[in-house]
Amino acid sequence: MKKLISEIFKLKKEKDAVILAHNYQLPEIQDIADFIGDSLELSMLASNVEAPVIIFCGVQFMAETAKILSPKKDVLIPTLNAGCPLADMIDSNSLSQLQEKYPNASTVCYVNSSAEIKAMSDICCTSANALKIVDSIDSTEVIFVPDKGLGSYVAEKTNKKVILYEGYCPTHFNLTKEDLLKAKELHPDAVTIVHPECSKEVRDISNFVFGTSGMLKFARESKHNKFLIGTEEGMIYRLRKEVPNKEFFLISSKLYCPNMKKTNLQLLYKSLSEFRYTIEIPKNILEKARYPLLKMLEIESSKQ
Ligand code: SF4
Repeated sequence: MKKLISEIFKLKKEKDAVILAHNYQLPEIQDIADFIGDSLELSMLASNVEAPVIIFCGVQFMAETAKILSPKKDVLIPTLNAGCPLADMIDSNSLSQLQEKYPNASTVCYVNSSAEIKAMSDICCTSANALKIVDSIDSTEVIFVPDKGLGSYVAEKTNKKVILYEGYCPTHFNLTKEDLLKAKELHPDAVTIVHPECSKEVRDISNFVFGTSGMLKFARESKHNKFLIGTEEGMIYRLRKEVPNKEFFLISSKLYCPNMKKTNLQLLYKSLSEFRYTIEIPKNILEKARYPLLKMLEIESSKQ
């Protein structure tokens, strides 16, 4: 293992590459990454990073987002079959039909979507900024795709009419109200934080709803010492590592995304040594998909 890690560092230096890893990645990948974060943090990094090569340890749509924001760089993903079932739940036909049905609505697209869906949208959002983005747009009607979990959470908080799409994250939607009630019984003195991709019935009996970066910030700054966490289990490793004086419990072992665990050190090594797998997006789609992402980043930076 030590030898493999030192080989990865050596190759990374030789290729002038930077390793970005999502919060849900395996501990061994989080430990070796240059930057760990949620989709928003990694999108911003991808657009600012100077290295000519980005190795994205996450799922396909994340690496695609990095490529869209840094089209001149080589963006590599260590495993090609790390997809996202949520992103795959919508295709261009379904979105076109919604857009035809609601011609006055703007389309807000969660970053957990393909480049093609982004290219058809007015603006992108992440779980960290979804409400801010929806509130920032001019139209009073919004088509929100593809996640009905996050979309319904935003709909509860905004004055705009939100038209939802029936997509969902199988990992977060797997968590039931009963799972949470059981976990609360086991840890009665813990506060509950769940991800907005969870169902409404789970969110409604939680104390707080945050994306992963919000969870980390809240855990650091909060006066509470024990937390029940309702997001993919990889986040527990990061929370325990970065906030070692507090306790974190995963609400249920169901909170496991198989696609996020497909990347390991061996595949990362192969990715660097064989320069694989490069993300390619047709130019016309890439250019159209860039605009809604840049618009989101512009709003994000102007309101900070
Ligand atoms: Fe997709 Fe859900 Fe896995 Fe995230 S946790 S990659 S949204 S399936």
